[in-house]
This record gives sequence, structure tokens and C-alpha cells, in this order.
Amino acid sequence: MKIKSVVAVPISPPPQQFYGRPNRTALGEVVRVDYGVVKIETDEGYSGIGEICTVFTPGGRSLCAQIERYLVPVLLGEDPCQINYLVSAMDEALSGAEPAKAAIDMALFDIVGKALQTPVYNLLGGMVRERVPLSHSITYGSSEEMANFAVQLAQEGFATVKVKVGQGLEKDVDAVREIRKAVGPSVRLRVDANMAWATTKEAIATIRRLEDYDIEIVEQPVARHALDAMAELRSMTDQPIMADESVWTPIDAMECIRRDAVDVVSIYVAESGGLLKAAQTFSICEAAGIPCLIGSMPETGIGTAAQIHLGVAMTNLKFDSDVCGVRYFSEDCLTRALKIENGYAYPPEGVGLGIDVDEVILSRWQADVEN
Ligand code: MG
Repeated sequence: MKIKSVVAVPISPPPQQFYGRPNRTALGEVVRVDYGVVKIETDEGYSGIGEICTVFTPGGRSLCAQIERYLVPVLLGEDPCQINYLVSAMDEALSGAEPAKAAIDMALFDIVGKALQTPVYNLLGGMVRERVPLSHSITYGSSEEMANFAVQLAQEGFATVKVKVGQGLEKDVDAVREIRKAVGPSVRLRVDANMAWATTKEAIATIRRLEDYDIEIVEQPVARHALDAMAELRSMTDQPIMADESVWTPIDAMECIRRDAVDVVSIYVAESGGLLKAAQTFSICEAAGIPCLIGSMPETGIGTAAQIHLGVAMTNLKFDSDVCGVRYFSEDCLTRALKIENGYAYPPEGVGLGIDVDEVILSRWQADVEN
């Protein structure tokens, strides 16, 4: 089998608004989304699809151009089954651009699964669980809005909610206190600063105040590369510290582990550069005794399906994961909606990624890039 064509197109799926206005976190306000879709076709009639999703720069439009220029020449005419080879060839041709490479990796796994008549999770070592337990984020708002949303999520079956912090010490404490009061003791509550705290001192001041509310994990308290600060924080608090923005690739995970900077690692398919490398990061962390979960950009149905296949196959998935990105958009592009129910995501039935996209919706998202 040979790769016949690779097409990358920018898309702008419509974000969901949790409180009737654009969602906000320490990373900013989500007004427009700059993603992309990659379609790969082979000479044997099998085709695969993958999603470029990133909230960081460069965005989808720029990454589609990079795919066209640097990665298409590497892929054309090659055997899509040689994913290990193609991933390293892409790394040689273009450094970084992980979300672009991830979309290609997803499409390759989709093709190989279809050709072998098996779901992608079987290509990742097979199922160790039948469904992925979920966490859902609570973006910035008034403490009342955030608490009401937390109650709604708990009623929908989410056993874990992730409170976005970084609004300022008193606002963060108010929000977490009101959420804990509203959902009671049984819902797990983690906080995500998205790098908001400038110093260890600022981080520890807030973390100490939040400790009263039974916090499961403190996610990415300081800047991506501030690994000394992360290590220092670990020595100052018993709260588990999770790396999110700090870990994109397997090499990043290795560095965090070497520097004693993490208790938990949040792994992204997009930031890893695809399923293959995400699975490698799971293994590196497993060898180091560091538990992991799967983080979200958020993805539309395409990327979410890839995450679910990864999530059911990784032994070192130890915490509820953000594998419900479709909920962060007001519509999805799959013809059969993913089964996300009662706080769990289930792998789609069928071979490959097990999904089909609605081309009408995709064209509309494509047109919205220009609007
Ligand atoms: Mg995060």
C-alpha cells in the first residue's frame, strides 16, 4: 500500500459558551478556533483522517501550510503501515509542529486499522479498560456561575471537575470554596492554573489557601519551562503537581522526571505529535513511576476519537481524563456522535478510528476560517 495524497485544510469549529459568553482561562478568551483537518488517501482505496488542534501558536492555518511544504513530500509514495519510520522522517523534515504531525499520525493509524480490519486501540497494544473516565473543566466566571456549572457536571455523571484558577487569589479561593460547597465531598476537584502564577511564592500562597477544599491535583502552576519552580513547589506542598504545558513530547517528559518536577503528567495526542509518541510518553512515565492522564485542547470528534483509543489502551492512565473535547464546541463533525455518557467516553465501534465525518459540516467549518 502506498500514500497517494495528503491534504491539510484549516477549519474553525464553533466554540461552546458555558456562561453565554466566550470561555476564558489563564490562556485567554476563546473567541475563534484555528484548527485543521488532514486527509490521507492510499492507492488501495483506504483513507484516513486526523485533526490539527492547538490553542497555541502556530495555529491550524500556519500548520496546514507547513504540512504542505515540509511533510507532504516525506509522505507521498510511502507505505502508511510504516508509522515508526514516517514519524521519524517527519521529525527530520520539520522540527516542532507537533499538532500537525499528530494529525498525520492519527490518519495513518486510521488507515492501518482499516486495512487490518481492527480498531486503533488494538494497534496500541489492545484494551486494558472498556471506557475512559472523564474530567470536565470549569472555565472562569463568577463563583456562582462556576459552582452552578460544577453541579450540572456532577449531575451529568462527571466524577471529577477541573477548576480553572489564576483569576487572582481571593477569586480563586471563592470559586473553589463555592464549588466544593455546591458539589459536596464526593466529586473530585482539581485546579488548573495554566501557568498563571508568576513565582513559586505566588503559587504556594494560593495552593495553601486551596488545601482546605480537598484538591486532587494542582495542574501547571507556573510557566512551561519553570521546572525548578515546579520541583520547589513539590517540596513545599503535599498536593500532587501535574505537568501539562510543560510536557509536549517524550523528551519533555524525560526532562520533567529528571528534574523531579512532577507527580502526574497530562499527555496530549496533539502536543506529543501523535498517538505513537503519546504512547511513548505513557511508557516513559510508567517506567519512572509517574501516573498519567490525557489532556485536551479541546479536540473535535476526530481528535477525541483518537484520544479514546489511546485512553482504553494505556496501562498507566491513572486519573480521570479530559477526553470530551466535543463538549467544548456547539456542534461536532462526526456522522455518528461519540458515546460520551455518565462521565465516561467509549471507543467508537468499527475499524481504524471508527469515525466518519460529515462533509457538509466540515466545509462550513472550512468556510468559517475566512469569515
Ligand atoms: Mg491544562
